[in-house]
Amino acid sequence: MKETAKQSPQLYPHRSLLWRIAAYMLSVSVLTVATLSITSFLIARSYVEQGIFAQLSSLVAAKEDLIEGQLQRNREHTMLLASRQDILQMVEAEKMSDLRPLFLSLVDEGLPIVGMTLFTANKTPLGHVGTPTETLPVMSARTAIIPHLGEEGWKGHIVFAGMQGEEGVSRGYLAVRYSEAELLERVLSADILGTSAEVLLGRVQGDELELFQHKHTGQFKKPLYLDSVEDQYVYGDALALALKREEGVHKAEDYAGERVFASYRYLPTFGWALVVKVDRTQALSGIFALGATMIVISILLLLLAGFLSVILSRDVTEPLRKLIRRVSKLGPGHWGYRKFAHTGDEVEVLDRTTADLAKRLKRVYDNLEEEIKEQTEALKVEYEKDHTILESIEHGIIVVDKKGIVTDHNAAAVEIIGCHPEESIGMKVTEIIHLHGHKRPVPDKNHPVLRCLRRKKTIRSVPEMPWSLHQLKEDVLIPVLLSVTPILEGKKVLGAIAVFRDITEERRIDYLKSEFISLASHQLRTPLSTMHWYIEFFTGADAKNLTDEQKEYVKEMDIATVRMAKLVDALLHAVRLEGQTMKAHTNHIDLRAFMNDMAEELRPLAKESKIACDIHIPDKACSITTDPILLHIVFQNLFSNAVKYTEAGGQIELTLRTKGGKCEISVSDNGVGIPKKDKKRIFERLFRADNVRKMDTDGNGLGLYISHMIMDTLGGSIRFTSDEKTGSTFTITLPRKSKKH
Ligand code: ADP
Repeated sequence: MKETAKQSPQLYPHRSLLWRIAAYMLSVSVLTVATLSITSFLIARSYVEQGIFAQLSSLVAAKEDLIEGQLQRNREHTMLLASRQDILQMVEAEKMSDLRPLFLSLVDEGLPIVGMTLFTANKTPLGHVGTPTETLPVMSARTAIIPHLGEEGWKGHIVFAGMQGEEGVSRGYLAVRYSEAELLERVLSADILGTSAEVLLGRVQGDELELFQHKHTGQFKKPLYLDSVEDQYVYGDALALALKREEGVHKAEDYAGERVFASYRYLPTFGWALVVKVDRTQALSGIFALGATMIVISILLLLLAGFLSVILSRDVTEPLRKLIRRVSKLGPGHWGYRKFAHTGDEVEVLDRTTADLAKRLKRVYDNLEEEIKEQTEALKVEYEKDHTILESIEHGIIVVDKKGIVTDHNAAAVEIIGCHPEESIGMKVTEIIHLHGHKRPVPDKNHPVLRCLRRKKTIRSVPEMPWSLHQLKEDVLIPVLLSVTPILEGKKVLGAIAVFRDITEERRIDYLKSEFISLASHQLRTPLSTMHWYIEFFTGADAKNLTDEQKEYVKEMDIATVRMAKLVDALLHAVRLEGQTMKAHTNHIDLRAFMNDMAEELRPLAKESKIACDIHIPDKACSITTDPILLHIVFQNLFSNAVKYTEAGGQIELTLRTKGGKCEISVSDNGVGIPKKDKKRIFERLFRADNVRKMDTDGNGLGLYISHMIMDTLGGSIRFTSDEKTGSTFTITLPRKSKKH
């Protein structure tokens, strides 16, 4: 139960579906609300702007009508006055009577008249009432209107009207001065468009644009000069546009650098520009307020959308979370799963599938449990069987893993090694199996178990040279035969099995045998010498007293005694070398001289068998420290073998080579060679290959065995190459300085 809980997956994933759905929904809401808000805001602003433009257009048109209408009325009114009989008579008589009653009656009528002046036909002032007019302008038409600008802007104007008699002859002129304070008030009022709205009047003065009617007129009491008309026109200034007789509405910057909406028109009577402008920010303040309201509403909407998204996604994911909780409880002993979803959607399908899966899992698990039980039982039996077999084997068996750590062993191994049965498990094999080779301990890196793991090959000790195992309990060395086999899975090493056997008893019997052979050989030597002496006696001076048949017997006896003496010598050598009683007595020798002496000594032997003998010796001296007597035995063995196993007419080659700190002597022949199958046993004691046994040559199978042991004693080595029927080459290698044994 506990284990199930431990292995169950994390119930709440780090990237919850709930929050993902909520986030998606919220993102969609944000996108929708933002798009709708921005679009509606832009549309609304465009509508408002259009409205403002319309208002400005109609306002500027109304202002123009107002001004032009008033001027027209003034013009007509002046013309009417100029056609009055009483005024005509005054001019004709060039006698000015009192105009005041007329003037006052006109003022009473509500006309904005501030002065009247009469001029004679030759343009000299005749008289005036109110503010006088000094000069007459050049009159190209019947009337002329001259505006009058004061320091605060447009103050009024003078309408001149010619008085014509019969035949169109001019009789005089009437100048009526009008004040336009009232008109101006009405013209300049633009409060309908808000406090920032302003009506401007401008004209061309020189080539400059003079703005003589503006908000600041009163303050500065001066007209403003705004650069040249052409520049302002290029710049898109409303006044300049109007002065160029254009009319329209646009967004621009005004003379004070403010961003404004402006409507402009040309006033033909005076040639002035009329502009109505309103500050853009103020004009659009309503739409900005609407924007702010929309932002607040959008935020509220988004909060609502977020809240709804969470509720909705919770509603969608809750059944899934429930499913997770239930599925996570499934496990050994808890396969029961009751369906709960009736939503009719994918969750219900998943719920149904899970219930079905749980049922099937339960069946599989039950079967599996049963099967595991059976398999475990079978394995137990198998293990017991293997264990009993292992324990009943008298050979020591140690199992190691791929790192050389002991994982198992049998009782015999514990007995032979003398280690603690439990403590040794888990230890390194080199700490348990301490091996000694020929006279010295085997270093860890050359330990046969580690070598086997490295090379993935079986390693066996050679029966002639067994390893000694250091028995921990008794602190003695026990001779053992050891074989280590790798456990392989394909090419992969899983471990190794070391099997070893205590051969103390065999070694003891061997020793006894050697003792016996040694004793027997010694005992045989004296009678053999005696026999040899007598045979020489018969083959010497007394031979003439013998019959031919007797001579033949004596010769055979001679051969037999020589062979026996050789055998006895060989046996004694072998016994001494095996018992390690033969010591090397080293001297400095020159191998070239040694080889030459040996060739001289042995050449007759080859000659007797009709075999040629060549010798190859380097020019350079080759001195070496070794035991010449032991080396003599080896060389003699190799040479006599070459002679023995080469047919008459054959050839032997002796070669001396130096290689670094080593010297090599090779003895090659073109004789019978060694069969392939016998090659690996050639250095075994008393071994003779099949092909030479048939030849009936004189041999005992001890020569190479002895040579191998001698080379080991001298710290050198012996090897050979051979092909049957082609010949053999035996090579001995010696270090220049012999090791002390
Ligand atoms: P043996 O007294 O039989 O020569 P050795 O120990 O010297 O004993 O040699 C062992 C065996 O090795 C020989 O019996 C022979 O089969 C083989 N042998 C040794 N030297 C040669 C060689 N030069 N040519 C062929 N076989 C050889």
